[in-house]
Amino acid sequence: MIEVAGIGLHSGKPVKVKISAAPAGSGIVFIRAGERIPATIAQLKDTRRGTSLKGIAVVEHFLSAAYGIGAYDLEVEVVGDELPALDGSALPWAEAIEKAESRTQNTEHRTLKRPIKLNDGKASLEALPHDGFRVEFMVNFKGIGEQFFVFDAEKQSYIKEIAPARTFGYLEETEELKRQGLALGASTENALALSVNGYVNQPRFANEPVRHKILDLIGDLALLGRPLRAAIRAVCSGHKMNTDLVRLLLKDSADK
Ligand SMILES: [Zn+2]
Repeated sequence: MIEVAGIGLHSGKPVKVKISAAPAGSGIVFIRAGERIPATIAQLKDTRRGTSLKGIAVVEHFLSAAYGIGAYDLEVEVVGDELPALDGSALPWAEAIEKAESRTQNTEHRTLKRPIKLNDGKASLEALPHDGFRVEFMVNFKGIGEQFFVFDAEKQSYIKEIAPARTFGYLEETEELKRQGLALGASTENALALSVNGYVNQPRFANEPVRHKILDLIGDLALLGRPLRAAIRAVCSGHKMNTDLVRLLLKDSADK
């Protein structure tokens, strides 16, 4: 069992987390005040500021780290109502989960029979049948422009290429969120700050935001409850569209 402590990005309040390996096939389960909250799409509550389950908010960076390193069965006891932001990336989570010695062996994967496509006019997200896991992501943000990155789990290291990419936000928007009592824990210690003139603090990668979008997508896809074999193509998609894709993928595999 490994303990992690920090503050919630939105609440600004201290949170404690205990991570333990769980039996193969049990999935990832959060435990809060004795209540078990499985990390599945059925528990999804809100996708406006991070991906929040009923009872535990902002789970996507933790889930991304777990799925990124192949740990699909964990028990995660949480004292608090939002997972801690840590450094804004998935790297400290991946390191903690590795210490909990919880990589799953020979797990079952979900596969697709046919392509699934989502498009809302501004963003799009496609999943295509593929023997492996690969994500192509394109974003376009004011001040930093277009970014494109491909992550292929068969060829690249999640820990090196994706996990260190931090969450990001525009300074002006963060100030407004703080006035509304949100993003109270956000700072340049746990986020990459952007402005219309570009990066405010030092980025870890020249294209850190698009890598973080892939990190988030991997975390949202973890709500399938099992790892996915697919090629994903995303343009500007976010938590709402990512979790809509999870629902369609589950429906597709139920339609066999
Ligand atoms: Zn994120």
